[in-house]
Amino acid sequence: METKTAKLLDGKALGLKIREQLSTTIAQLQSKVGRAPGLAVLMVGDDAASAAYVRNKERACNKVGIVSFNRHFPFATSFSELQDVIKGLNNDERVDGILVQLPLPPHLDSVALLHEIATDKDVDGLHPLNLGRLLRGESGLRSCTPAGVMRLLKEYSIPLEGKQAVVLGRSILVGKPMSLMLLEANATVTMAHSRTKNLQDITKNADILVSAVGIPQLITADMVKDGAVVVDVGINRITDENGKSRLIGDVNFDQVVTVADYLTPVPGGIGPMTVAMLLQNTVYSYQSTVSC
Ligand code: NAD
Repeated sequence: METKTAKLLDGKALGLKIREQLSTTIAQLQSKVGRAPGLAVLMVGDDAASAAYVRNKERACNKVGIVSFNRHFPFATSFSELQDVIKGLNNDERVDGILVQLPLPPHLDSVALLHEIATDKDVDGLHPLNLGRLLRGESGLRSCTPAGVMRLLKEYSIPLEGKQAVVLGRSILVGKPMSLMLLEANATVTMAHSRTKNLQDITKNADILVSAVGIPQLITADMVKDGAVVVDVGINRITDENGKSRLIGDVNFDQVVTVADYLTPVPGGIGPMTVAMLLQNTVYSYQSTVSC
């Protein structure tokens, strides 16, 4: 019997397509607005993974014509220093989007800092007002990673209405907004987390399974329903048997690819979609300065 192979949901290709469209939109709007769009990414400390994400975002901005106003602060930077910087950026007309790269060092309260970002520049969609808008089904800036998942599912015409969706992880960054977006699309949503019992019984029922946990290869073939759509948000750096470092997801790809109908690869799945949604949110804020 031939082994089944899931169709890959190609976030890299779709991310590129979205970026090309944004490039065109920016080129058209620039003469009306009189400037290019601007994004400020704030990073505190020297976490290597965060630094790589920030570089990646900056490169992506440059390619589509978004100006970067990135700032890098030492680990010991105080809350009030960052508060002042954010205030300045809120009032800077060249800046359409502000993002605080998470995680922050432990002495800084990330939730309190996110409150400081002007809601119309909150391109990560994490301000309580934007999360509240999502909860109420109102339009607004949406959290990039779950928005990227939704956009990718739409691209492949994956039906969500009435489907059983299971989201693993309940963070503000991914799990919670992801569940709300699936609910908004009329899926029946179950959230699972670190205290969930009998995880396999829950995941086995999922037509759509989204994992945002951060445990390498947590999801094995026996946890996945035949024909499911599996979205792997997890990014985990591992060192393989040859001593080489590489990124893998939460899903045991080689196993699950033989059970699922659709699967996102890591890398090349949700990572590039997250960046594309960040750029899209920045352009959305930029566009709204014209329509104001
Ligand atoms: P987090 O640490 O804030 O949350 C992890 C969640 O997993 C928690 O809610 C926890 O309850 C849950 N969890 C822990 N163990 C579990 C278990 N055994 N079963 C079920 N749930 C369990 O992390 P986060 O910021 O939400 O990120 C999750 C993962 O997604 C990480 O690997 C992160 O690197 C990745 N991520 C990827 C992107 C992307 O662009 N692809 C963006 C953001 C985060």
